[in-house]
Amino acid sequence: MSTHQTKALLDAYKNFFPTGVIGSYINGELQSGTGSEISLVNPATGELFLTYKDAGPDLAGNACQAALAGQQLWGALSHAERGRLMQEAGRVLRANIEPIAQLESISAGKPIRDCRGEALRVAEMFEYYAGWTDKLYGNVIPVPSGHLNYTRREPMGVVLQITPWNAPLFTCGWQIAPAICMGNAVLLKPSELTPLSSLVVASLIEKAGIPKGVVNVLAGYGHTIGQAALSQMAIKKVVFVGSPATGRKIASAAALRGIPCVLELGGKSANIVFEDADLDRACVGAQAAIFGSAGQSCVAGSRLLVQRSIYDHFVQMVADGANKIRLGEPTTADTEIGPIQNATQFKHINSMIQLGLKEGAQIVGDTQVAVDQKDGYFVRPTVLKNVTNDMEVARTEIFGPVVVAIPFDTEEDAIKIANDSEFGLAGAVWTKDIGRAFRVSSRVKAGTFWINMYKVINVASPFGGYDASGYGRSSGIDALTEYTQVKSVWVETAANPAQPFGYAPTID
Ligand code: NAD
Repeated sequence: MSTHQTKALLDAYKNFFPTGVIGSYINGELQSGTGSEISLVNPATGELFLTYKDAGPDLAGNACQAALAGQQLWGALSHAERGRLMQEAGRVLRANIEPIAQLESISAGKPIRDCRGEALRVAEMFEYYAGWTDKLYGNVIPVPSGHLNYTRREPMGVVLQITPWNAPLFTCGWQIAPAICMGNAVLLKPSELTPLSSLVVASLIEKAGIPKGVVNVLAGYGHTIGQAALSQMAIKKVVFVGSPATGRKIASAAALRGIPCVLELGGKSANIVFEDADLDRACVGAQAAIFGSAGQSCVAGSRLLVQRSIYDHFVQMVADGANKIRLGEPTTADTEIGPIQNATQFKHINSMIQLGLKEGAQIVGDTQVAVDQKDGYFVRPTVLKNVTNDMEVARTEIFGPVVVAIPFDTEEDAIKIANDSEFGLAGAVWTKDIGRAFRVSSRVKAGTFWINMYKVINVASPFGGYDASGYGRSSGIDALTEYTQVKSVWVETAANPAQPFGYAPTID
């Protein structure tokens, strides 16, 4: 165990939880688990940080009871009061950006400058949704009778949110804020590898005055506590962010319970560069698309589609840029890319690079592949050329700083290759031809598409996948509709109803 690094992590955590206990946050209290021991590992060294105990099945039941009671309190407040408290939560989070960012940077292995940005985004999410608490109206429906019919948007009740390790801080704010905006209570199950920032966010929003029990965090494994939470009858909806394989298991479990779910899954997004593009900008964009967050990003531009006339030149430009990216210790100010978050992912990335080479791909330039694991889970940005879209390396999500460059000839060709994927999360086109930009953007199947840019998202704009990348939407007003259900209310208005009980025509 690296005592120096462990102390840094513990100090960052104790800013928020002075006892240093790592457990589940239920009804405003940190509770130690009773299950098996889980290790938190330092991604920058590969050494053990700390251990904590899986929540164990009893805590899932306790958390559900707390959430049910919390939802009663929260739902009874006026919409305006909920908005005021969410605004205050945004203020408290803003006041803690630096300590939250430090904790996330050390524990998740993400560059500190990225973490500061993500902490700010989380504060903005609460501020944005604070303005929505009293603005999602129902409708008055012009029914063909003397009746009044109107709709109400009501909370689901208690929602379960299961999140991954790649952006734990961002993802918890992204899902908690719209859920509580609509009057729900939350049971959040972060990745067992990165639970700390979610615990902190739950405690800070409570400091802002949001009642205990409204947001509860269960720390532990998916197959234990995640499944135990899913089976709780109080859970009325599941929002899952993670891998396609787990997403399907969650959807199956939700279907057996007869409850709805949202799936935010992986991708293999096409970043399409035409010969008429501003190549300098496209090159910077292509690097940001795949190498940002060391490629551990669901929307990563992992397939770089380049028009054949500029293929060699442009791919070399991207590789030259990649070689200059500063890889380093996450908390160092000028680090651009940190390590891969965990050993399993590190092995997966390296095995995918080896597979690509076996399939006939070539590493461009002198890109080094992986740094020795003893020095942490670092992988240098890697550009693979001579890739065709049927190779495994072009089809499987690598989720690391590895881009496959695929040539194309015509616009039709580019669209066909882009759409020849089981995924449909994101994509981009780089061209100066405005007509082409619109044509391509309308024909590539993707939940998010960028023109002459990449990776910009905003809390106000919907986000989600097509095909194997999932279904349902997060962010913006679309997230609010996901976190509500519609009630249709009928009122008899006739002085002398034509039908005995006023219910014609009927449905059986
Ligand atoms: P994962 O599927 O392994 O784990 C995600 C979460 O599911 C974790 O909390 C885990 O503990 C839990 N889990 C695992 N098995 C479970 C089970 N049987 N029952 C209940 N819960 C279970 O994913 P990961 O490796 O943590 O994350 C990487 C993946 O997430 C990538 O595929 C990436 O593309 C995807 N992702 C998608 C988005 C998006 O918005 N579309 C965002 C971030 C990450």
